[in-house]
Order: sequence, then C-alpha cells, then structure tokens
Amino acid sequence: MIKELSKLSALSLLGITLSLTSADQAQAQTRISRETNQSSETLVADKVKTGLETVAVDSMMAQLEFMEEGYPADDLYDGWNTEYVKAYKGVEIPDSFCINVSEFVMPIEMSKVTSNYGPRRRRFHYGTDLKLQKGDTVRAAFDGKIRVKNYERRGYGYYLVLRHPNGLETVYGHLSGFLVEQDENVKAGQPIALGGNTGRSTGPHLHFEFRFLGQAINPGEIIDFDELAIKDDQYVFVKNKSGNSYASSGKYTSDGTNKIKYHRIKQGDTLGAIARRYGTTVSKLCKLNKLKTTSTLHLGKSLRIS
Ligand SMILES: [Zn+2]
Repeated sequence: MIKELSKLSALSLLGITLSLTSADQAQAQTRISRETNQSSETLVADKVKTGLETVAVDSMMAQLEFMEEGYPADDLYDGWNTEYVKAYKGVEIPDSFCINVSEFVMPIEMSKVTSNYGPRRRRFHYGTDLKLQKGDTVRAAFDGKIRVKNYERRGYGYYLVLRHPNGLETVYGHLSGFLVEQDENVKAGQPIALGGNTGRSTGPHLHFEFRFLGQAINPGEIIDFDELAIKDDQYVFVKNKSGNSYASSGKYTSDGTNKIKYHRIKQGDTLGAIARRYGTTVSKLCKLNKLKTTSTLHLGKSLRIS
C-alpha cells in the first residue's frame, strides 16, 4: 500500500519534472555547457550526447531513487534537512564510531593549507582552508548525496553539504558556482562546484569541513595535507569525556593506532614508479589495495603503501 502511494507521488513528480519551464531549461543548458569543459569526465560526455530531455528524465529517475532509497547513512541520521549545516541539535552521539574513509578523493587537485582547523581570535574555525584559483574544480570527497545547496553572506558564501554512506558529512564553502543540484547523488571525485571567494573570505580558497552528526572534526586528523592523502583507511571517533564542547576540545579524536602510509595518486603515476619511490614492490601494492597489475589508478585517490 505504502509502495503504491509512493509510486503515485512519483507519477505526479513525473508530471512536474516534464513540465520544466524554459528558465529551468536554460539553467540545465548552462550546466551542460559548463560540464562539457570537463572533457575527461565520461559520465558528463554521455549526458551531453543524450540531450536535454534525457537530463529531465535522469533527474526524475534520481528523484525516484531518492524516494525509494532514502538518504545515505539513514541508520545514523533520522532526517534530511536541506537548509543548514548544523541540523542535529540534541541528537545522541555514539561513544565511538568507526568510519571507512578509504574511498576519499581530495576535493581539489593541488593545494596548500592556508588556515588550519582550530580556535581563532573571534570564532572557532571548523574546517581547513585550501588555496585555489577562482573557478578551480571542486570534487566530492566520497560518494554521497547533496543535502544542502545554499548561500550565507556572512559565512560560507555559496556552499554545499554532502552526506555520505560512511556517516560523514562534508562541507565546501566560498564557492563561485555549483555543478550539482539539491538531492543529487554524486560519486567520489565527481566535479560538484567551482572554487571562489564568496561569503566571509579574504581570497579565493576552499573552506572544507568534515562533520559527523553535526560535530566538526579536524580534517588534519583524517588527511595528511603534505601528501594530500588519507592517514588511514578507517577513522575512529572516540568521545572524550573531559571535553565540554565537541569542536573546541577535540572531543572526537583518532584512536592513535594509525601507522599506515598512503600515497595520493597523481597524473602519470604508475604502480612501478610508486613501488620504486617507496621501496616496495608492485605485487605488495596490489595485495594491499586489492588491485591487479593492470588496474587503472584513479587520480586523487589514496593508495596504501604499507
Ligand atoms: Zn575556513
């Protein structure tokens, strides 16, 4: 019965989607021409081939999937707020929680940290700032779904919040343009936005946050920003009993057992070259990463070295 009802509403949704206004179409067209610039994205290339009607149907199918599948990590989260980063007041936080971060992709190609997570004179800084040029492509850190696509004049500027199946949420601030829609499903590494300088920002950069049930986590605990790779394929949050405030006390910290080394895959990397650089062998790398010697290396992903 419930299934039937949701099909009914899906049908009415179909009606709505197919009666796209010309303004919507113009917007979709803009989006496509923007995406064609990313010639390396085969996914995008397919979309362009099939034309506008298919985009409309695709977006309807995505909506249908959304209705049937719910949202990522729905066993942890009991809602899908589409307006705010902090939507979890009063929510109960587990004492510890293990998160698989092995699929992480750096949100921007090359960068250096211009400001770390931590206390600032006036207000706490809940993310890590990464230098970029206005218009640089910003990518999804993991597979996920766009929860918030919004604007905050005195804060994040244009920003996105993604929720991921591993339980994390990621926040991308000060953007100059969006390449995704609200509730859209995205893949790790997929272009989602263009970097910029909007909101409370004194120069083009990406403000990047990790959050877990609304609590900010120091990205430096998950990512080695010198290597631009993850520090470990799992991240364990442990509730620190002595802390008063989650963010300023680092109430969640890594369990400190991490002794694993990762390399971030760059343009031109081969398994052989990486093996030589780290004094290991191709077969060891394949074993650690469940790869074949012929596997394609994905740019931006972290390869386990030891
Ligand atoms: Zn920042």
